[in-house]
Amino acid sequence: MMSPEDLRSGGLVAIVGAGPAGATLARLLQMRGFTVQVIERDASSTARPQGGSLDLRPDSGQRAVDEAGLADAFARASRSEAKAFRMIDSQGHDLPGMGEETHEDPGPEIDRGDLRQLLLDSLAPGTVAWGHVLQEVRPEPDGSWRLDIKDRAPVIADLVVGADGTGSRVRRRLTPVQPRYTGITMLAANLRRDLWRGSEIDKTLGEGSVMFAGGEKTIFVQRCNHDLILLYYSMAVGEGWPKTAGFALDDRKAVMAAVSGAYRDWSPGVMAMLTQVEDTFQLWPTSVMPPDTRWDTQPGLTMLGDASHVMPPFTGKGVNLAMLDALELADALSDRAAGDVALAIEDFEARMQARTSSEITACLAIGQQMYGIDLDFGAPASRSTDA
Ligand SMILES: Cc1cc2nc3c(=O)[nH]c(=O)nc-3n(C[C@H](O)[C@H](O)[C@H](O)COP(=O)(O)OP(=O)(O)OC[C@H]3O[C@@H](n4cnc5c(N)ncnc54)[C@H](O)[C@@H]3O)c2cc1C
Repeated sequence: MMSPEDLRSGGLVAIVGAGPAGATLARLLQMRGFTVQVIERDASSTARPQGGSLDLRPDSGQRAVDEAGLADAFARASRSEAKAFRMIDSQGHDLPGMGEETHEDPGPEIDRGDLRQLLLDSLAPGTVAWGHVLQEVRPEPDGSWRLDIKDRAPVIADLVVGADGTGSRVRRRLTPVQPRYTGITMLAANLRRDLWRGSEIDKTLGEGSVMFAGGEKTIFVQRCNHDLILLYYSMAVGEGWPKTAGFALDDRKAVMAAVSGAYRDWSPGVMAMLTQVEDTFQLWPTSVMPPDTRWDTQPGLTMLGDASHVMPPFTGKGVNLAMLDALELADALSDRAAGDVALAIEDFEARMQARTSSEITACLAIGQQMYGIDLDFGAPASRSTDA
């Protein structure tokens, strides 16, 4: 048994993943005197595109930012004017009132990459071990955990937190349950920078975002920082697309032909606004953890954020929930009355699981309404793992 105080004064917390969840947790724990090492697969914070703009809600993401002492930095990097949201149908007509349930109480917008950078910049130098790919985490006889890192020396830690996203390796040690493909893939592209200024989509967009919707598919357009307008085509395609359809993502002609085919029932005027994109595409096959996933608490090992409860971005809450998890775990570990780290983890997991069950259910209800998603999860997911 290890108390939170023992962990704080002489233990090591290893966080796998330097996304919003891992970076928030690292910051909060460091502020409270814990020794933290973050293991991150990417070679650097700019190694790959970090996606578009998202809103931080007052009761979750913003609360974590405030607790992390980063409210001023967040105010400088975020855009209140970008809250504006509009829905338009596939023929170009406004859909007044639609979509409000997905965007209730929106906070200021911030680019995901800017948010992550702001959090990373707040960490003590050397906190993140970049280019470290976790392969496996195993228990040691003395109650600590060993993290096997590809081509590197292993790390031994007293507490391991999986903040390693959808494909989490840490999750395998906690539960055999894995996320399921929803049937909807998001294809992201930037509008052509040499064409968008003054164009119809530029005017339609204003300072915020627009969701074009019709026929169980959407095109979401958002104004981001750094002079970018980002566009997400959300389509019902098989898992593994476009490979399974016989073309590559760097074959722009084939990609755009597939997009035109998928949206062939949309007005040509609308599509003309939404197809002048650059040559680089990013693919997000959306996935979801079964809403009732539970696991038996393991002393010294837990997970949070997308690793624990990935869901499609239909309600725009993923980052917010990930950061709230981080805040609640930091609070649980700082509670001296908890007496035992295992109890603190148990308490944290129970709260997180209760919250995310209803969030995933609400997200899938929106997915049903907008995309016709109809997933059957059957009986509640298994509690334990044979790992
Ligand atoms: C297209 C799209 C749009 C979205 N829009 C919104 C939105 O508007 N609002 C919102 O709140 N959320 C949104 N989300 C969701 C949001 O981005 C995620 O919920 C959030 O990033 C989860 O944070 P995380 O830190 O848990 O995981 P991630 O951000 O996935 O971070 C995981 C980190 O772990 C690292 N990692 C993975 N495996 C390993 C390994 N084996 N070893 C070491 N490191 C590893 C990864 O490199 C990564 O840095 C969107 C998501 C998508 C896909």
